[in-house]
Amino acid sequence: MPAETALRLVQALDHQLPRLAEAADAQETDAEAWRTVWSDPQMRAISYVGVPDAITPYRFAEAGLGAECGHALHLALVERLSRGAASAMMALPASAMSTRAVLRLGTEDQIERFFRPFSDGAAWTFFGVTEPAVGSDAGQCRMRLDPAGSGWFLTGEKTLIGGATLAQRGLVLATDRTQLRLAMVMQAADGRAFCAEKLPMTGLCGAGISHLRFDGLAIGAEDILAIDSRRPVMLTLADVFEKHRPMVGAMALGTGRAMLDRLAEGGATGGFDDLLREHGALLRRMVGLGVQADTGPLPVHAVSQFKRQATAFTDRVRARIAARAPAILLADRRMRRLWRDAGAFEYMEGTTAIHSLNAYRDYVTREVFHDRAV
Ligand SMILES: Cc1cc2nc3c(=O)[nH]c(=O)nc-3n(C[C@H](O)[C@H](O)[C@H](O)COP(=O)(O)OP(=O)(O)OC[C@H]3O[C@@H](n4cnc5c(N)ncnc54)[C@H](O)[C@@H]3O)c2cc1C
Repeated sequence: MPAETALRLVQALDHQLPRLAEAADAQETDAEAWRTVWSDPQMRAISYVGVPDAITPYRFAEAGLGAECGHALHLALVERLSRGAASAMMALPASAMSTRAVLRLGTEDQIERFFRPFSDGAAWTFFGVTEPAVGSDAGQCRMRLDPAGSGWFLTGEKTLIGGATLAQRGLVLATDRTQLRLAMVMQAADGRAFCAEKLPMTGLCGAGISHLRFDGLAIGAEDILAIDSRRPVMLTLADVFEKHRPMVGAMALGTGRAMLDRLAEGGATGGFDDLLREHGALLRRMVGLGVQADTGPLPVHAVSQFKRQATAFTDRVRARIAARAPAILLADRRMRRLWRDAGAFEYMEGTTAIHSLNAYRDYVTREVFHDRAV
């Protein structure tokens, strides 16, 4: 889809923004606040993008935004809705990051089992990579799969895992100690067999991050994705993160814009024009990347660069408000919530050092010159 079309289509979503903002304000104290957004059929269809058509009760084609949702349109949607509240979007039922991994690595039976709860209506999944002490560097994964009879025991901890206390399904990255390789373990039992504790949050409450503990949970061969290892887990993980990272940038960009719009509503616009122009430039860059992703792979450096530029922009908006318009932070509860939400995006996704190295590698090998989105 051409960039202009994607940007024009998403303007039709502006009537959703006040409801998203109100839900995000409310969910700081009310865990059920997502229901007001979920009651809207258009939001349900947008949130279930990625759930296979044969399973989802809420097809994207019913959202009134075209027949299908490619990368460019998806990024534009996420940015636009984040001008309402990224936090409220993140709280909605969705299959999110797990989708791509299950569809790529799962057998037909595993895919059916994983997505089954979605056919009944509201369902969540979690994607468990990050661990205490090692962050989201998969190469350092300490979660263990130890052989036990004809199966395995899963032991270890995950932290900062979004939506896990609500999720009916999930994926856990572990190291298979017999073969010394990474494995993606599906949590698809009805009823939870591990400990999930919600972590306190001061911003982006809708992410609902949790700490998970597995104490020798019994795992069967049917729970391990791509057990034959024909499609390596590491490559799939890289693919999942490459596709998700621009989404984090899109949420950061939309949240930065939400703060600028809130300033304008309060009449405090002087001294922020350059940031509005920067937002416009990054928006075009983002949709350009989406168009490129619709037709082929994205260069790693471009993905890392966009995420870092978008989060740096949002952090600049925060700093400028604190310096030039501190009164609005004190007086306006909505602005305070946006300001706290916006602080989460730089940290989100992790492995900063690896991305800096990737970008540097692409630069010295001249890969950057093949970037059509520049
Ligand atoms: C809202 C939210 C939702 C999340 N959801 C999930 C989830 O569903 N599943 C999951 O697996 N994980 C999730 N995470 C975890 C996330 O993806 C990251 O893994 C985690 O935030 C940090 O990973 P890291 O240690 O690799 O980060 P790093 O990239 O190492 O960075 C952590 C911080 O250190 C700073 N830093 C890094 N290097 C340097 C340096 N050299 N000098 C100075 N500062 C430096 C970075 O700027 C950043 O602020 C979530 C995190 C957040 C905030």
